[in-house]
Parts: sequence; structure tokens; C-alpha cells
Amino acid sequence: MNSPIDELKVFTKPQIAALKKLEVKNLQELLLYFPRKYLDFSLTKNIDELKPGENVTLKVTIKEINKRFSFRSRMSIAEAVASDDTGSVKVVWFNQGYVADQLKKGEQVFLAGQPQIYKNTLQLNNPIYEKASDFPLHTARLVPVYRLPDKVYPKTFRRAIAAALPLANGLIDTLPKNILGNQQLLNLTDTVFKSHFPEQIEDVSAAKKRLAFEEIFYNQLLAQKHKLELAKKQSFGIKFDQNLIKSFLATLPFELTPGQKKSAWDVFQDLEKPMPMNRLLEGDVGSGKTLVALMAALEAKSAGLQAVLLAPTEILASQHFQTAQNFLCRKTHNFNTHCALLTRNFSILNKKEEKKEKLAKLITEGMPGLYIGTHALLQEKIKFKKLALVIIDEQHRFGVEQRAELMKVDGKVPHLLSLSATPIPRTLQLAFYGELDISQIKSKPIGRKSIITKLVDDQNRAKTYRFIHNQIKNGRQAFVITPLIEESETLQTKAAKTEVENLKKIFPEFNIGLMHGKLKGTEKEKVMKEFLENKIQILVSTSVVEVGVDVPNASVMMIEGAERFGLAQLHQFRGRVGRAEHQSYCFLFPSPPLEGENAPSDSRGAGEGENKTLDRLQSFTKTNDGFELAELDLKLRGFGDMYGSLQSGWNFKYFNPSYTSLIEPARQEALNLLQNDLNLDNYPLLKEKIQDKTVHFE
Ligand code: ADP
Ligand code: MG
Repeated sequence: MNSPIDELKVFTKPQIAALKKLEVKNLQELLLYFPRKYLDFSLTKNIDELKPGENVTLKVTIKEINKRFSFRSRMSIAEAVASDDTGSVKVVWFNQGYVADQLKKGEQVFLAGQPQIYKNTLQLNNPIYEKASDFPLHTARLVPVYRLPDKVYPKTFRRAIAAALPLANGLIDTLPKNILGNQQLLNLTDTVFKSHFPEQIEDVSAAKKRLAFEEIFYNQLLAQKHKLELAKKQSFGIKFDQNLIKSFLATLPFELTPGQKKSAWDVFQDLEKPMPMNRLLEGDVGSGKTLVALMAALEAKSAGLQAVLLAPTEILASQHFQTAQNFLCRKTHNFNTHCALLTRNFSILNKKEEKKEKLAKLITEGMPGLYIGTHALLQEKIKFKKLALVIIDEQHRFGVEQRAELMKVDGKVPHLLSLSATPIPRTLQLAFYGELDISQIKSKPIGRKSIITKLVDDQNRAKTYRFIHNQIKNGRQAFVITPLIEESETLQTKAAKTEVENLKKIFPEFNIGLMHGKLKGTEKEKVMKEFLENKIQILVSTSVVEVGVDVPNASVMMIEGAERFGLAQLHQFRGRVGRAEHQSYCFLFPSPPLEGENAPSDSRGAGEGENKTLDRLQSFTKTNDGFELAELDLKLRGFGDMYGSLQSGWNFKYFNPSYTSLIEPARQEALNLLQNDLNLDNYPLLKEKIQDKTVHFE
């Protein structure tokens, strides 16, 4: 099983190297490399029974076969006549002239394909072929299709699988037997046999179900393990201080929304408990999550403890710092809270300049306050002596380990409050956030205007530019999102740099800024600062601005190549505008359709057909509800990249939205198992399986 695939003597050296990149190095990995899909050529027919458009396998004798070069289409072509007892059929292999060297006249072969009518007779174009035998690999069955590098031919790979298959009997199953029994799942050996050599389509679904269950089971096992372990840890219990919160609310120029009240209450209750909170606060951009987080920080600080707020970027960190200053630290409010922005050079403490060493010392000694920063704060490894609360904004940008880094506080584990504007469909919450408790803010602050969203075709582009021109003349600002930095012919999207040049011609009187992922941190900040100060009127950006930067004066969001993005992501972009009293607009510009080219089937949004794409974008213009859009996204596209990159770090290969009914049983099985054996001492294989994903809290 651990022998390298070389030993099969099927693959060439370059093929072995290419497969290595897919983590297919030894025979076990080969057997566990499952098909992406199947071509159903299990139906075998006689020539006189052929119907156009039907997938079939024929068992025929080659009567004639020739190669020729077509000058018109500039390709070599193999042409053959094949026959059985019932008749004969013309067979053509376009651009595969070499087939004429491989198949000999008089040879009996299987041909698998779809007969088409050409010049009034049935013809077989580009069929899969192999020598007729009792054990066909490439025809006359449900033929597995694997995701393979160019160098590795499907036939070669199938031959390798067939050669290694007997070893599958020795595979050790990680899933415990009783769970397989309870859930009526295939064991690993059967899964391997039925995946690579299904006899019927039910074999495929049984194998897929087993693989999906396995994945979601590990996911739940890890989540529930975290949860149970965390419940045993000590935290700083923070007693709810009603007077404090009341006087804080009295300073606000507005009422909390019902969603804010409810989630703040969830948080306050969690903080009181002697075990650490592990809560996710979900709500659209602008729903007021920060305020809820600040109240929690205020509670912590007033109890003489420390809170940390981590943002994904420096810009966001400083915006949070300003917000915190505004709400908590103004003298008039008398909350007397220390708010410190811990940037790279560590200098700001309530506007007073403090030396890094001095501040670090005060923190180490346990000075209560709210400390705001980015990842850098984690790298600094400052010891917070009384860290009671960690707030993480847009947490999916933070790795699980980074989160664990801050958790390593002697004795006590800080409460965790995670803020996210990524709405997860309800059916999947357990899969992505199994270890978290969830509060949602679904209500928007009163008086917030909804954003007018329009899908703009090329004819209306000029008109839209005129509209934007007017907006800017009236003092507003605009974002332009482009998905790529460098020009790319095939993807047809205007690269950000080109777009800047473009817009300079269209809007010569305005300043146009450029923002992209390859800018250095300081450059990014400079651009963002200029945009905030309205020195830049139009900011062209790749998707890096996705994360919550607040520019209240911006009222226009233009998205080029809009079809490339998931609806939830478009919604994030849209959330950049409409953050103040100005009526705001979001314009979606789809890329022009690709002509004569097949977009790669697994690139985002591609391959779904132009109409479907436009429908999807149209539906986006009709709702401002992020949760609704997330559900819709899921229905239309399955997991986007978005879900893959979420904080949980799970990249599901087999589990997909059609398996949501497996989540609850998987959770139950995980809980049953953990209740008797939290350390998984009796399940070394499972333990190993989830080890690399485990976070330790001590
Ligand atoms: P989020 O972090 O959820 O994107 P913020 O907390 O940044 O949202 O809030 C966006 C804006 O709305 C801020 O300017 C904030 O002061 C304001 N805000 C928050 N809560 C309310 C409310 N209940 N009513 C009116 N405005 C609010
Ligand atoms: Mg925010």
C-alpha cells in the first residue's frame, strides 16, 4: 500500500511527477483518488439498434481504417468502418489520426460514444476505443473520469487503478464499525471498489455518501471536541453591569436595533459564565456589529480586565480605533477606557504617544483597556496579563492557529467574539461553525436607505458614467471593482491598471486611485487615506477592498466582470456604500460573453450559460438581504470559494450542500463517541485524522 506508484510500471517519469503534485504518490493514495464523474457507457447495443444522441458501447470488428490529413481543418483524422452481425457504421476520430496506427483491420473492439446523424446516416465521432475483452476498462460500463494533469491520460490512469485494485482489500477504515452500521454506510474497501468499478449508478451514490459522511463526521468530531474541551476551561466571568450599559446607551445618538439588543444580551450572558464564550456574531455590513463588540469590551474593561480587537488590515484597525475612541474613550462620556491602537510601531494610546516598550510593559502588567490591532499583534507575542475578551472582526481571514495564539493565556481562556458579515445558510451553519454559538443581526439601523442596484449592459455604460459623474460633482465618491490585476485575454475582464487609465480618459477632472493586493501595506494605507479624505474621487480596486473599510461619503459601487463573483461576495462589495445618509447605488457590469471559447468548467460562474448568469445577477438586484443571497448562492453554485476559505479551514471535497441531511447524524455520532472518550484514546486513527486541524487552548 505504501509502495510508490512507480512499481505499477504503468506511468512514465513525467506522469509520476505530475501525479505527485496531486498527492498521488503511493498505491493507497492512488486507490483513494476518486473519480470526479462517470460517463455512462454501460448500455451495449447492436449497430441496427443505434439511436442518435444515445450513449452506447458497440462490440464491433474494424473492417477498414485509414488516416488522412484535412487541409481545410488542419488536423489529422482517422476514419474507419466498423461492423457487427447487424450492420456497419462509419467511425471518425478528429484530430486523432494516430488511432489508425493503433487499431488494426480485423480487430474486435469496443467503441463507446454517441452516434450522430451526418449526411443522413449514423456516424460515430471520437468514440473511446479499446480491444474487446471480458474486463473492459474504458467502455461498456460506468466509466470513471478523474481530474488528471494533462500529461496523464485517462486510460493510463484507469489501467493503474485496475492494477492496484486488489490491494483495496487491505485498506484500514478510519470510521468505526458501529458508525458504519448505524448509518448504513459502505466500509472503505467497498467504497474504493464501487467508486472505481461501479456496477450500477447506486454504487456510485453509496460510495459518495460514505465519503461525504466521513468528511462531515471529522468536521463535527473536531468541532464538538473543541466545544467540549472549551467548556472545561476557566474564563474570567464578567458580571453584567446594568448601570454601565445603560449609561453607555444613553450616550448614543440612536437606539439599538432589535438584532443588536438580542445579540448584546447573548454576549453579556456568555461573559458572565465561568467558561469561555465562543460566539459568532453574524450580520450584514453596516448592521452595527462593532457596537455590540464595543459594549462587550466596555464590560471587560470596567471589570478591570483587558480586551483585544483584531482586524484583518491596518486600515480597518485604525477605523475601529477611531470608532472605539468615539464611543468609549471621549472624556465627556467618562467611561475612562484606555483604547490603544497597536500598530507595527505601537505608538498610539489615547492619542498620547507612548513608547512601545512602555506600553508593552503596562499591558504585561495587566493595564485594563481595549487594545486594537492586526495580525501583527499576534506576532508581537505581547503577554496580556488579564486578557478576558478577544474580538475578531471578519474572522475568516484569520487562521485557526492564529486564533489559538491569543488564547494561550496562563490559566484562563479569554472569551471569543467573532464578527462576520458572511452570511452562512442556516442549513450549513453547523458544518462551518459547529463549535461556535451564533447570534445574528438581521435588522438594519432605522433610516438606512437600501442600495439601488442595477445590472448595466454595454449600451447603457455611457449613461451610467454620466450618472456617476453627477454623483461625484455633488460631492460623492465611487468604488470600481475589477477582479484581476494583470490583463488577461481569455477572462476578458479589465484589469485594474488598465481600468484606471480608462477612467482617467472618461473622468479627466477627477482623481483616480488604484488599490490592489500587491501594493505594500503602507501604500495601501496611503491610498485608503486619500480616498477617505476625498483626495481621490474614484477608487479602482481588486477584491481586496472586500473587507469592511468604512468610507461614508462613497455612494457608488461599480463592479466589472460581476458574473465572476458569488452573490454573497457581491453583497459584501455593495455593503461598502450606503453607509451614511446619501442614497447609494451599485452597478453590475457583466463581462462581454466569450466567443467560440469554452470557459473552464470549474472557474467561478463560468460554464453556467449566459442567461443563467444574467438571471443570477438580476436576482441580486432585487434583494438587499445577505442571508437570502447566501441561500440563493448555495442553490445556484454550491460551495463557492467563499465557503472554502472560511475560518473553519475545512475544504470539503465530497461533502456538498446536497448532503446537509448527514450533518445532524454526524454530529450525534461524534457526540456519542466523545462523551465516553474525549481524548479519542480508543480511536488512534480518528485522532490522527483530526490532529493537524486541532487547536489547543492551553
Ligand atoms: P458592521 O460592523 O456590522 O459592518 P458598524 O458597527 O460598523 O457595522 O456600523 C455601521 C454604522 O452604523 C456605524 O457608523 C455605526 O455607528 C452605525 N450604527 C450602529 N448601530 C446603529 C443603530 N442602532 N442605529 C443607527 N446607526 C447605527
Ligand atoms: Mg464591521
